[in-house]
Amino acid sequence: MNLYKTEAIVLRGYDLGEQDKVVLFYSPKYGRIRVIAKGARRVKSRFAPAIQPPSYDELIVHKSREKTLDILSECKIKYPFMKIRSSLVKFACSSYLAELITRFAADEQPCPVLFFLLLKTLFLIEEAAPGQSLNLLIRSFELKLLDISGYRPCIERCVNCGKKIEFIKSAHFSAKLGGLLCEVCKEKNDRGALTISRQLVNLMHHLLHLRMEQVYKLKVKGKIERELEMVLKSFIFHLADGEMITLPFIRNFEKLEASEFQ
Ligand SMILES: [Zn+2]
Repeated sequence: MNLYKTEAIVLRGYDLGEQDKVVLFYSPKYGRIRVIAKGARRVKSRFAPAIQPPSYDELIVHKSREKTLDILSECKIKYPFMKIRSSLVKFACSSYLAELITRFAADEQPCPVLFFLLLKTLFLIEEAAPGQSLNLLIRSFELKLLDISGYRPCIERCVNCGKKIEFIKSAHFSAKLGGLLCEVCKEKNDRGALTISRQLVNLMHHLLHLRMEQVYKLKVKGKIERELEMVLKSFIFHLADGEMITLPFIRNFEKLEASEFQ
């Protein structure tokens, strides 16, 4: 039999017929993999607990000889991320990370750096104190994912002409071109470029270099954090050619949880 074994994180699953499910995993060895979990829709399925997102699992997969999907043969939970599953905000954050991976990572192309970034970020979300803001952690994940996927935003020089950017009070960020623009290039190439502050550019530099576990230590003004969210949202919108479906859930559930605490 043609079997392969790997660790992997569950990104999402969907129903297939009456009894089965198709599950999308992200693995360090094979990138994104899509497999059929036979009988997973049955109440007493042996797979059911392990294929709940964002479980971290050990899989054995039966490779299909034809051009059909591979079949999940064994699936054991290495870590279930129960605190993520039991918090709406944390679950919304992990769903957003999964959507980013689904959009930006390639099928069957290994990228261990991206896998371990996802795993590390999930553990940090899991262990975050109740009510602790996860926004900066998510922004840092977005930036690092863009960097790893070859879309690192150009924040050193003008992305168009290479000229050093002279900040007076602010600069311009073009989502279309993927970086800062000088005044001349902004007028010529992207009049819709966003006006951004020097503090934001400094923060982006920091986030690109800091390890994920250091991100919580940063003290960032709410205004700069919102500015960062707007810039990355518009850049990702441009690259992914559309809205990220799960992003608004984070804000909505944050509001809901905040109102429950009052
Ligand atoms: Zn320029």
